[in-house]
Amino acid sequence: MDFRLSEEQELLLESLRELIDRECPEEYIREHDENHKYPSSFMQALTDNGFNMLGIPEEYGGTEVDILTLMLVAEEIAKQGVPTYLYGNALAIDDMLTFGSEEQKAITMEYAKKGDMAFCLGFTEPQAGSDSSALATTYTRKNGKVYINGHKTFITGAKRSPYMLCMAKNPEETDKSKMFTMWFVPMDAPGVTIEPLPKLGMNMVETCEVYLENVEIEEKDLVGEEGKGFVQLMKNFEIERLMLAAGCCGAAQCAFEDAARYANQRIQFGKPIGTFQLIQEKLTYMAIKIENMRNMVYKTAWQKDNGISVRLSSALTKLYCAQSAFEVIDDAMQILGGIGYTTDHRVSRLWRDIRSQRIAGGTDQIMVHIAGRAILKQYAN
Ligand SMILES: Cc1cc2nc3c(=O)[nH]c(=O)nc-3n(C[C@H](O)[C@H](O)[C@H](O)COP(=O)(O)OP(=O)(O)OC[C@H]3O[C@@H](n4cnc5c(N)ncnc54)[C@H](O)[C@@H]3O)c2cc1C
Repeated sequence: MDFRLSEEQELLLESLRELIDRECPEEYIREHDENHKYPSSFMQALTDNGFNMLGIPEEYGGTEVDILTLMLVAEEIAKQGVPTYLYGNALAIDDMLTFGSEEQKAITMEYAKKGDMAFCLGFTEPQAGSDSSALATTYTRKNGKVYINGHKTFITGAKRSPYMLCMAKNPEETDKSKMFTMWFVPMDAPGVTIEPLPKLGMNMVETCEVYLENVEIEEKDLVGEEGKGFVQLMKNFEIERLMLAAGCCGAAQCAFEDAARYANQRIQFGKPIGTFQLIQEKLTYMAIKIENMRNMVYKTAWQKDNGISVRLSSALTKLYCAQSAFEVIDDAMQILGGIGYTTDHRVSRLWRDIRSQRIAGGTDQIMVHIAGRAILKQYAN
């Protein structure tokens, strides 16, 4: 088994590091995070240098790469202290490029090329979190128009996205497998109200409540096939989880490196704290977790690239990486002592941000639910 990266991958990561050094130093991230501002200039730089278009088919102006390379990029971004919730254009827009109409694809790409998202994802509702099938937003037809009514919650990017990919149900359909459809809802349409939901971290993008009251859209705003909303949604979930895991793995390495450097420098009781075995033990277990995370992310990416099902492995990887990254970053904070808890140190931001990864994209418990069933199925006979 060859664990080396290819020369192209090494060069890609090197130029990414240079770009981040130049366009997104720690002061830039801190300033945007503190002021809850979207890092537009960095996102534009990522796009101008081709990173945001990686994984997007050439016919849409992107550069096709394998999933492993995309994960390496996501990991490296996070390793440099930049949150990966900002990255992942290729995966985020994949659904639209697969299922969208020509008009919807053109709108999506117009924004993607500027480093922006054309749409936010409108799935979660107050009563429909892990249980997506409980969603109550409806679409109804009258006089040739379509009307959306409902309440979405936790919608990341709702305030700055011109559209929402909105899952809604047909109240006249009783068969659950045909009930749900995706719609491309303009966020400036009359009847759309957006209210930011203050949250603990991920400050550079707002997460919002979205109220939809008789929002009038057209038949052309249907995304994909009517009644196939869930099938379309599931298609991308596995890869989104893998991307999230790669980000966790990178963020853990970022905190680990900060903590290990600090352990060499910080003197207490007349010696560097790194000489204390309790600190060494922490660093050792942090290193093991990081190694495991990387192996899981790379192997799952390799499986995906080779056409092997990642239903089980992406759930296991997401679960392990989200939990372990939080543990590693928490230990890094412990090694840094009081400084780690101040907002002056990036580990405190990583700590706040990473906690969300055990909830967003499917909670830890839902990953167990998916993995547990898949494991049992493997041994059913
Ligand atoms: C930062 C952030 C960004 C988000 N962005 C978006 C977005 O852009 N678009 C969007 O649509 N959604 C988004 N979400 C919503 C996210 O997908 C949901 O929060 C998540 O699916 C969990 O739903 P919930 O919060 O309603 O928790 P619930 O589903 O109510 O879960 C509460 C608790 O019960 C547990 N639980 C639920 N069911 C089971 C079960 N069967 N077995 C065992 N335990 C169970 C859960 O694991 C959890 O611990 C975001 C969430 C966060 C935190």
